[in-house]
Amino acid sequence: MRQDWYCDEVIPGRVEVEVVVETATVLAFRPPRPGFGREHVIVVPKAHVDSLLDLTPALGAEVLAVLQRAAAQVVARHGGCQVLTTLGDEQHNRHLHWHIAAGEGVARFVTAAVLSG
Ligand SMILES: [Zn+2]
Repeated sequence: MRQDWYCDEVIPGRVEVEVVVETATVLAFRPPRPGFGREHVIVVPKAHVDSLLDLTPALGAEVLAVLQRAAAQVVARHGGCQVLTTLGDEQHNRHLHWHIAAGEGVARFVTAAVLSG
C-alpha cells in the first residue's frame, strides 16, 4: 500500500483529480475513486505534514480556511457533511489529510445512545 499518495501522486499532478479549492499552500480535491457517500472531498497541505499532531498553527489556519470553503460547497449541495482526519493506527496515508464527506458510508454517531448515556 502506498504510504504517501498525496506527495507521490496528487500534489505533483501525476494523478488527475478535480480541484475544488486551491491556494498556495493547500489543495482540496475530489479523488478519482470517492471513498464516502454522495460526495467526497480531500483537503491536504501541499507541503508534507505527517498528521494533525505535527501541524503548525500558521499552516493550520490556512488548512482550516480551505476546509471551510470546500465544506460550504458540499453543505450547499447536500445539506450537510462530516469533516474528519485520522491519526496513528487509523491514519493509513502518512500525509495529513482531511475528508469532507456527505451521504452514506460516513461515520455516524449513535444519537440515541449519546442522549441516554
Ligand atoms: Zn506527504
